This record gives sequence, structure tokens and C-alpha cells, in this order.
Amino acid sequence: METANVLLAVENLKTQFFTYGGVVEALDEVSFGIIEGEVFGLVGESGCGKSVTASSILGLVQKPGKVISGRVLLDGDDLLQKTEKEMNAIRGSRISIIFQDPTSSLNPLFKIGYQVAEPYIYHQGKAKKAASNEAVSILKQTGLPDPRDKAKNYPHELSGGMRQRAMIAMALTCEPDLLIADEPTTNLDVTIERQILNLVKDLQEEFGTSVLWITHDLGVIAQICDRVAVMYAGSIVEQADVRTVFRSPKHPYTQKLLRAIPAADSAGENLEEIPGSVPRLINPPSGCRFHPRCDHATSVCSEKKPIELEVSPGHTVACHLF
Ligand code: SF4
Repeated sequence: METANVLLAVENLKTQFFTYGGVVEALDEVSFGIIEGEVFGLVGESGCGKSVTASSILGLVQKPGKVISGRVLLDGDDLLQKTEKEMNAIRGSRISIIFQDPTSSLNPLFKIGYQVAEPYIYHQGKAKKAASNEAVSILKQTGLPDPRDKAKNYPHELSGGMRQRAMIAMALTCEPDLLIADEPTTNLDVTIERQILNLVKDLQEEFGTSVLWITHDLGVIAQICDRVAVMYAGSIVEQADVRTVFRSPKHPYTQKLLRAIPAADSAGENLEEIPGSVPRLINPPSGCRFHPRCDHATSVCSEKKPIELEVSPGHTVACHLF
């Protein structure tokens, strides 16, 4: 991957949680880069470290967690070296996030219109009236029906899909360089999910925003992402453009993940489950963390951690088979 147009470079990121039960090794030297204007997917089963990756990038890892080492370069500037005040300015201006649960971002005590208008007032210094017009306009862009009326509603007066649109509007008010979407469609029905995916794709193209899309669902990755990193137990095991990962997956875990998603034209028959579960990350398996679930494991797999190798241009795999 060329480095010239990389917006965000995550390098050897290591995040741990110091609990009474032991050290949770949540991220083990995670590295990937997001190119300007692309939608980059991060996929894996729940508990594999996807959301910890997002909070590590945003400087939001809560105690007893800590980013131990690594770098998070935004346009070459290391976010891990920023003060809390500097990160506050970056969050909500250069990087925005939308969550699975919009209620975690929307304040139940304030009307939607006020909440969407707030960044225009505080980050861009606009007058109240102008900010509220801007809020209605961006709510309209997200496809919210009757945006002027809905702006007068409190979050609980809107449906889940509408709240998600309002949160996307809030995230886009400052025209961020990077939008992090952390499983934002998981609780929505399939029709609304598709609408939200199309909406984010349209807005991403219009604003030129880069997107980090976090999901457990490879189907979603296929619909919206340009490139993808597959994550397992705190490590990236494979990265490539989406077409390559779907057509020619190399890592045994990616292959199993793909066999576990239903084809668009099937009713779910011939699906395989991935045996076992994501390991606990206190005392994770030695060597390759996937070895207890891998059909191809050999003795070296439990002894030595595989390093990421480029198997074709832009396609990397961390597995001793390569
Ligand atoms: Fe399987 Fe070994 Fe490759 Fe890990 S390194 S995925 S255990 S073959």
C-alpha cells in the first residue's frame, strides 16, 4: 500500500486491561492503514478486539485498560502523544464515531435538533439560528422524514432507525476526515440496515470521508467496504481488498468465517459453524492464537507467533502456512 495517501496508520498497537483476574491482552500489535476516501472494514467475532481498536484510536480506553505501545498516526501525527484536551478537539472535528446503540451518543434530555446543531455552535462558532438550519439540512441529507418536525423530538420519540440517522447526522456535522462506525446496524432490521449502509456510502462519497467500519458480519463488509482486515483474538490475521478476501481467502480463520455466512441466494443451508469460541485473552493461546480451532495447525503453530507476510500486492496473511 502506498503511504502517500494514508490518512490513518495504526502501527503495532498493543492494548491491555489490568484486571484482578490477570492481564487481558486485548490488542497484540495491531497494524493497518486507512487510505483517504476509502471504507475500511474491521471484521471478526465478538470479543476479538474490534471495539478496543476503535477506543484505542480515539484515546478512549478506560481504566483498568491502557495502550501499552504502538502508534496511531493521523496524517503522520501520533494521536497517542496528544493531551486529553488535544484529543477532545480531534474527536468531533477530525474523527467522529457512530455506535451500535445510538442512545449512548444521544442525550435523552435534549431535542434531536439541538444535539445536531451543537457542534455547529461550539466547533464552528455559528449563531443558534444558522446552526439549527444547518442541523435540519443535514438531518434531511440522512433521509430522516420531516426533518424540521423531527428536530423538535426527543430521542425516545424516534424509532431505532431514525435515531441512527440522527447519530450519523451528528457525526457528520463537522465533516470529519475519518468516521468510525462501530457495528451501527447490528440492532436494525435488514431493510433499515441496507438503507443505513447506502446512506453512509452516499455521504462518504459526497463528503470524501474515510470510514473505519467495524462489524462481525462479512455480508456488511461485502456491501460497503473497499478493503478489509480480519481480526482474531486481538490480532489482524489477514488484510486485502474485499474482492480478494472473498475470492481468495488465505488464512484458515477467514476461510471459516466465509463458510459461516449465508449466500445471498441460499436459505442458509450448507452453512458451517466455526467450532470452539474466541479464546479468553487472559493467558491467550501461545504462538498463533487460532491454533486450538485450526484444522491445519502443526507443532510450530503453538510455539511461534506467525508474522504478517505479503502473499500478493496489498494482501497480507499471518499464518505459518505462508
Ligand atoms: Fe492455523 Fe497454524 Fe496458520 Fe495459525 S499459523 S492459522 S494454527 S496453520
